[in-house]
Amino acid sequence: MLSSRYKLVLQFFVTFCALAIVPSLYFYSESQKIHDTAAVAVEQSNRNKLEYSKAELQVTLTKINTSLRSLASNGLFNQAIVSPTESNLNALKEFWLLVTQTQGVYAHLRFLDTQGQELIRINSSERVSEIVNEERLQYKGDRDYFHYAQTLRPGELGVYGIDLQQEHGEYVMPLKPAYRIIIPVALNGAVQGYFIANLDLPRIYKALSYKRNSANLPSILDQDGFYLLTNTGDPIFGNVIEEHRESNLANQYPTIWSKIKTTNSGTEREADTWISYSKAELSHGNTVNKVIFVIRSDANAMSDITRNAEINLAIQATFLFVIIFLITLGFVTWNYNHEKNSMASKIARAAMNGMSAMVITDHNNRIIQVNEEFTRVSGYELEDVIGKQPSTFASGKHNQEFYMEMWKELELHGIWEGEVVNKRRDGSKITEILRIQTVKDKHNVIQFYVASFIDITHRKELENRLRELSERDPLTGLWNRRKFDAEMSSLSLKTKRYPNSETATLALLDIDHFKRINDTYGHDKGDVTIKEVARILTNHLRETDVVARIGGEEFAIIMPHTPLNEAEIVINRVRTAIHIETSLNITISGGITEIGPTAGNSYKRADIALYESKTLGRNQVNILSVVESDSIA
Ligand code: GH3
Ligand code: MG
Ligand code: MG
Repeated sequence: MLSSRYKLVLQFFVTFCALAIVPSLYFYSESQKIHDTAAVAVEQSNRNKLEYSKAELQVTLTKINTSLRSLASNGLFNQAIVSPTESNLNALKEFWLLVTQTQGVYAHLRFLDTQGQELIRINSSERVSEIVNEERLQYKGDRDYFHYAQTLRPGELGVYGIDLQQEHGEYVMPLKPAYRIIIPVALNGAVQGYFIANLDLPRIYKALSYKRNSANLPSILDQDGFYLLTNTGDPIFGNVIEEHRESNLANQYPTIWSKIKTTNSGTEREADTWISYSKAELSHGNTVNKVIFVIRSDANAMSDITRNAEINLAIQATFLFVIIFLITLGFVTWNYNHEKNSMASKIARAAMNGMSAMVITDHNNRIIQVNEEFTRVSGYELEDVIGKQPSTFASGKHNQEFYMEMWKELELHGIWEGEVVNKRRDGSKITEILRIQTVKDKHNVIQFYVASFIDITHRKELENRLRELSERDPLTGLWNRRKFDAEMSSLSLKTKRYPNSETATLALLDIDHFKRINDTYGHDKGDVTIKEVARILTNHLRETDVVARIGGEEFAIIMPHTPLNEAEIVINRVRTAIHIETSLNITISGGITEIGPTAGNSYKRADIALYESKTLGRNQVNILSVVESDSIA
């Protein structure tokens, strides 16, 4: 049961998978397409922003380059170096102040002497620009960028990377990325000091927004994935500030980062995030800073583009899989029923073609089906008997009562079993062990009768023959003592039960002086004589009489429905016939009596009567009736 259920489930599963595989591939490729469409949409929307910002920054830097070169070789600057009088210096300071105010890209413009001491410093921010007075000028001779500045040739433009703005040795808070462009200023080939412009990166950065929408600003990352400039709130300069170490794209989106490392631009997705990126090189003179522009989009925000397509696809897929489910269910059910039916019909066929002959009749007891064994046993083909009633086969052996009992039993218990003698097509008798079963519908009404039988004709004949053999005397062929005793008992019983029934008579016969015959002619001749007597008895007595040899030369005759006087006549006739017809003309003596309710008593009476015949001189028949016997007693 369990394994058949398991088989069904497995069949369902396999069929479903087989049917679903192609649609699944289709839906997979469709969803990939939607995914690709989304990627294209994200890419398109971000690409403009990225490239705009990138180009804008590069343009800005180029402008700054040009501007700084001209500032470094400016006449006012030159004059201030050649003759650093107060008025010359003030003129230069005023000029630089104007430049910072109008250009809006510098955080500081400075001039440091060869030792690293600030000589001129202009601070600029969005709100205000100022000339820093002498007391607030700082010494920068110990800073890395100053050491870098000293490596530059006169007039060469160098960029000191991107690092963090520091004042008096402390990082400026909030953290400010610093980008210093340095030009050593020389007079007649000798370096007089260093012109250093600190770019106001946050201000420049803000101006990079596409369509002036700050939401469109990309983050700018260094080559290791650390944030340099961002409007996403990610902590910056993880490469410098220990607490910001985790704030790194490589760390946040390792899969995307591995792509970024190998490709210059693209759009990738990881979990719920789309990232579009583009690499850029920021160059000033000989220095090149490599940075990465990155725009991060929330996949959910982007999903509007794909949602409708995805919903449509999901509806299609659901619809199709429901259909496949139903088809599979239909198929498995059909297959199950088919297998069951074919199994049932196989079983039915096997049963029909078994050892026993079968006849199936409808509720009117008309034959609708017979099997091969039936045809073989009875000689009837289906065409011969279809539509007929099984009474066609009746041999006449059984009376009406027998069949009435059979129907009653079938009605009551739905089954009847018994031995029946029917006749074959050729008229010969057939003895069957027949079993009839009814098939009822759910309302308990008989629909069919299924009769099966085994032909036991041969067995029956054999049985009869064996029984007869065991009841026959081998020498004469007459019944033997055993049969005689059995007949006596059954007749006595009948007499006992029906005391008024007609009398049956018992006669005992014994050959006279038989010993002499044996002695005179030999034992074989004796046997012949016994056989002669037997034949004569059979010839002269009725078929219904039971003639038995119950001893060596003793015979017993049971004569049903025969009164004593009639029996006496018959036996005397037999006695005479024996004397005349035997080759040795022997004589017999007899004793006759009625068969009463007790076999033993009847026998005794007949024996006494026989004995009387012997003692009265033999060759005679005597009667001892019950009445006489009672009077003697
Ligand atoms: P009685 O007139 O008194 O009956 O004399 P009897 O010689 O016939 O005596 P009894 O009936 O007592 O003896 C029967 C004899 O028959 C005994 C036996 O030798 C012989 N006999 C018994 N059975 C057979 C048999 O099957 N064949 C032959 N040939 N002789 C038998
Ligand atoms: Mg005898
Ligand atoms: Mg005798």
